[in-house]
Amino acid sequence: MPYTIGIDVGSTAIKVVFTQGTQIDWCDVAPTKPGQQQIVEALIDRGCSALGIGRSQIAKTCASGYGRRLIKGSDTIVDELSANARGAHLLSNGQAELLINIGGQDVKVIKLNNTGGFTDFKMNDKCAAGTGRFFEIAATILDTPLSEFSSLSQAATNTISLNSTCVVFAESEMISLLAEDTPKGDIIKGLHDAVAKRIANMINDTDLNRTLYLDGGGALNQGLLDSFQEHLMCDVYTLPQPQFTVAWGACFF
Ligand code: ADP
Repeated sequence: MPYTIGIDVGSTAIKVVFTQGTQIDWCDVAPTKPGQQQIVEALIDRGCSALGIGRSQIAKTCASGYGRRLIKGSDTIVDELSANARGAHLLSNGQAELLINIGGQDVKVIKLNNTGGFTDFKMNDKCAAGTGRFFEIAATILDTPLSEFSSLSQAATNTISLNSTCVVFAESEMISLLAEDTPKGDIIKGLHDAVAKRIANMINDTDLNRTLYLDGGGALNQGLLDSFQEHLMCDVYTLPQPQFTVAWGACFF
């Protein structure tokens, strides 16, 4: 049976998904750099060899994400909001009603309808506060890989209040806290709390009775999800492959 490929050219990461229609059969991610076309081609080659197929078994490709127009030869192009809504609807079995997408350089709150589309969305202002980039900068300052943020914050013992999610101000706050020997886990928990609080301000109170899902690369951080639940005082869910929602959704256009 032929495969469909969904491509998400994000600001920070390029994602590719292969499917025969029912599940993600293969997916992988690579950092976004100049030469997006070659990065996508290399990911597709990797997917073909992992699945033991040739390019002739690819029926259709669909590109999404901010760099979607840079990918030549895609059969279809779809905007990332539509692909995100469709992907989240399908991956959550129709459960997701409000989606918080934490991407590399923006945060979006998307209100979903019950047919895989969206009715409204909000985007953070043009600033890195609360985005994936913010966490990447924090990881460098704290000299700690992002993949450890979740476990370290879950082991935090003290509550630290960070005054700012502005990258510039948060950087000096983090450096001061490190100088005072504050445990890294406590600082990271403080970062998660500050980001959850900031993003929560993008959600109307009336939307809090909707079923909330977190996706995008930021949703790989369970510690951040915990802070959202504590702050919003409601359940927040993640999708099974949260960074691939847009690429998965693109497969269905
Ligand atoms: P975009 O589509 O805008 O390129 P993504 O949705 O791919 O962005 O998310 C990229 C962000 O995901 C990175 O900036 C980083 O903060 C975050 N991220 C990636 N891997 C992890 C991880 N293992 N744990 C926590 N966060 C991660």
